[in-house]
This record gives sequence, C-alpha cells and structure tokens, in this order.
Amino acid sequence: MQNEINNANRLCSACGMCCDGTLFQSATVGLSDEALVAATGLTINNNQGELSFAQPCKFYCQSQCSIYLKRPPVCINYRCRLLKKLDRGEMELEAALAKVNMVRALQAGLADILPDAGTKPVSAAEVLDVRASIDEADPSQRMQHAVFLMLSTKYIGLIRDDFWRRPKPADVLEAAEAETQEKQQARIILDSYKIQ
Ligand code: SF4
Ligand code: SF4
Repeated sequence: MQNEINNANRLCSACGMCCDGTLFQSATVGLSDEALVAATGLTINNNQGELSFAQPCKFYCQSQCSIYLKRPPVCINYRCRLLKKLDRGEMELEAALAKVNMVRALQAGLADILPDAGTKPVSAAEVLDVRASIDEADPSQRMQHAVFLMLSTKYIGLIRDDFWRRPKPADVLEAAEAETQEKQQARIILDSYKIQ
C-alpha cells in the first residue's frame, strides 16, 4: 500500500497537468465547499450558479501545490485515468512517467510553432481552438499546418486516452448548453474524437 502511495506521489509530482492549465481551464467548486475554498485564497467564479476557480491555478508553484494540506475537495478527489491505471496495477510507474514526458515533449513542440504561445503550458483547449480554425478539407491548409496537425493529433490523443475522465452521457448531451468544467471537458473530448 505504501508503495502505491509513493508511486502516485512520484507520478503527480512529475506531472501537475491537472493544476497548470494543460487539462482544464477551471476546476469545479461544490456549493457546500464555497467557504472552504474561498478561505484558501482562491478566487471563486460564479457562472449562473456553477462555481469554479481558474486554471492554471495560482497556487501551483515550482511544480507543487503550495496549499497542499488545505487544497480544495476537487483537487483531493481528482484522479486522472493514468493515475487510476497506476493505482490498479495496470501500468508501471516508469510507463506512466513516460506518458507524462511524451505529453510535455509534444507541448513544447506545439509551443514552438503556435505564434501566441506564452510562457504557460499550451493547453488542450487552446490546441483544439486552433485546430477548429483550420479547414482540414482544404489540401493547401493541411499542407501549411502539417506539423501542427501531426503534433496536435498526438497531443490531444494522449490527453484524451490517459488523462481526462470520460464524460458522463448526461454531460455530453448538455455540453453545448453551458460551460461548467465537466461540460467543458465533455465538449473538448467530443471535439478530440474528430481528430484522426
Ligand atoms: S493529471 Fe493525473 S498524474 Fe498528473 S498530477 Fe493530475 S492526477 Fe496526477
Ligand atoms: S489548489 Fe493545489 S492541487 Fe488544487 S489546482 Fe491548485 S495547485 Fe493544484
């Protein structure tokens, strides 16, 4: 058991993608957790009653959560698919770390070619937005953006298959109607399935 905890800690310490904006643009705050989360110093946004705080998280510093012992419930409870596979013994730590490194390498490649990439990690949502702006039915656009299309296909594919939780069917149906974190996640997963 202790070994499993150590492996999970090592994986998350090397990753941080559920804190640094790579996977999400925001994190959900339960209504009953509002006071608790506000007390940490996080700014809570209220979108028609759906509460959240922004990502990248302001408390993610030097690859660590600087409020770890009082982090919000959503952070305590989030376990990506990769971490679950590690927990269940379906994947070795080295293989899981290799997945994280692959995502980071693709992210660095995308940052080199996206003109508006800043110093923050290139997010999945940003990549999907750029893809949506390219007319892939047009051969000249495919040619012009060939490197971006290749890198982004691998990047989104890895995130979708190893990091995002699968959306619930109800969230998928409602994805177009509101942009809460889970629905946003559902929408971008649906978008990612268009990538072949
Ligand atoms: S995305 Fe997964 S592996 Fe990475 S820090 Fe979050 S829970 Fe850990
Ligand atoms: S509070 Fe900590 S665990 Fe939660 S998103 Fe921010 S840095 Fe990550």
